[in-house]
Amino acid sequence: MTSALLADHLLAPARGDGTALRLFADGGWAEAADGATLASANPSTGEPWIAVAAAGPADIDRAVRAARSAADGAWGRVHAADRARVLWRIGALIDEHRDALAQLESRDNGKAIRETRAELDAVVRCFEFFAGVCQGVRGATLPATGPAFVYTRHEPVGVVGAITPWNSPLVMLAWKLCPALAGGNAILLKPAEYTSVSALAVAGLLERLELPPGTVNILPGAGVRAGAAIAEHPGVDKIAFTGSTSVGRQLAATAAKTLKLVTFELGGKSPNLIFADADLEDAVNRSAFGIFSAAGQSCQAASRMLVERSIKDAFLERLVAKAESIRIGDALREDTQMGAQISARQLETIERYVALGVEEGARLLTGGRRPDLDSEGWFYTPTIFDEVDGSMRICREEIFGPVTTVMAFDDEADAIAKANDTEYGLSGAVWTGDVKRAHRVAAALRCGMVWVNTYRTWSPLVPFGGYKMSGYGRENGIEVMEHYTRLKSVWVDMQKRLPDWYAG
Ligand code: NAD
Repeated sequence: MTSALLADHLLAPARGDGTALRLFADGGWAEAADGATLASANPSTGEPWIAVAAAGPADIDRAVRAARSAADGAWGRVHAADRARVLWRIGALIDEHRDALAQLESRDNGKAIRETRAELDAVVRCFEFFAGVCQGVRGATLPATGPAFVYTRHEPVGVVGAITPWNSPLVMLAWKLCPALAGGNAILLKPAEYTSVSALAVAGLLERLELPPGTVNILPGAGVRAGAAIAEHPGVDKIAFTGSTSVGRQLAATAAKTLKLVTFELGGKSPNLIFADADLEDAVNRSAFGIFSAAGQSCQAASRMLVERSIKDAFLERLVAKAESIRIGDALREDTQMGAQISARQLETIERYVALGVEEGARLLTGGRRPDLDSEGWFYTPTIFDEVDGSMRICREEIFGPVTTVMAFDDEADAIAKANDTEYGLSGAVWTGDVKRAHRVAAALRCGMVWVNTYRTWSPLVPFGGYKMSGYGRENGIEVMEHYTRLKSVWVDMQKRLPDWYAG
């Protein structure tokens, strides 16, 4: 069977007898209550390629009720060891169909197939890691005063509402589904409106496991409708959101009305510090990866390069050559290194920022245009701005495209000050041959993750998340379970007694 046929096969459950893909709620497939659909486009061609049910408030309400009965009922009673088995089996099913899933993902979000294959590997590892976590979530016994036995229990939060972005759809799905299920919760997941297809393919795989109905619900739909309905629903106990800072802020306000638990993974404008004592070749190659992988559509993108003045020219000469060598093209081509932007709108946003950078007085070294390809796809060339000032909007605002800004620094203190001069705090990197400096700078950067002599490495074992306007809470690592469980303290008194001050 070819990959294409395999991919079609994965969509058969969602498609049923119709043409549009259906949503998955309460253990079954359904059209949206009002029949609404949305079109998903192939960014490599600019053409819509599939229609998907678009959930509205009625669908969300039905899914929340189903999730509540799963969480309070059959799924809530499943032992941690059996939840571990479920997670492992989901990982194995995804593993079995990884090529087909990667193909669907690349077609739907325009990311180069080489990259989505690597993401699929990360997705499988995520399920495997959280299978192990299930039985490791445990409370403590506490030496409280008096003859009492006191212990803590981690209990499920209940119903998790997960809202994800379009840049790495299956990775984002795994980062929410894994801890939710590991903690014994039921979940509604709303993928981004541009990229719902791979999540529905996974729903087709999940169906084979015959989980209690309502345990996992996949509800594509518009953010302002389906996403807002999840955030507002009183039956949702926790919001797990990854997306832009502006939507994160709105959701924080909405979630506050019903005091939902929240975790936010938001935008970034990550500094990448290159000191003169770094391995230059390595720093150039992996800094290019840091900004241009995912066609720049990464929350961790190395969009602010800070280079020690003495090596800036040498660094830039190599970085420009590297940028110009990147092969841009259809995401499904094996030799493509950089795929398309997600939408015409995103492409226009990038173009606006590049025009603004020129207007602000930055020097465009390379890129700054659509590539010469015989295609209507939403492609953009790797773009580098030099002579950037920290006050320029291209240096302060998240562009979410293959555009980086370069500034010189004079010494370590200057580098740190410039790096921290941002409202964001997701990640940062330092390139140096001096181990003491590496640790000093890592400690001084005000962000949730620092890479030393590397960029964009991650693992399900390692907590991920931001400082400042990049959000709060953490994903991954065993630490994430604090956000997917509630802590209960239990006091067991060992004798009948009243406090002395009361008894007397
Ligand atoms: P976005 O905020 O526009 O959308 C994210 C999700 O929120 C989508 O599912 C969307 O439908 C939904 N949404 C939009 N408006 C909503 C509303 N009013 N109520 C409820 N839901 C709503 O973000 P995007 O453009 O899809 O993704 C790009 C952003 O995501 C960037 O800012 C990027 O930095 C960020 N991101 C962060 C991380 C991280 O881990 N920190 C990872 C990936 C992407």
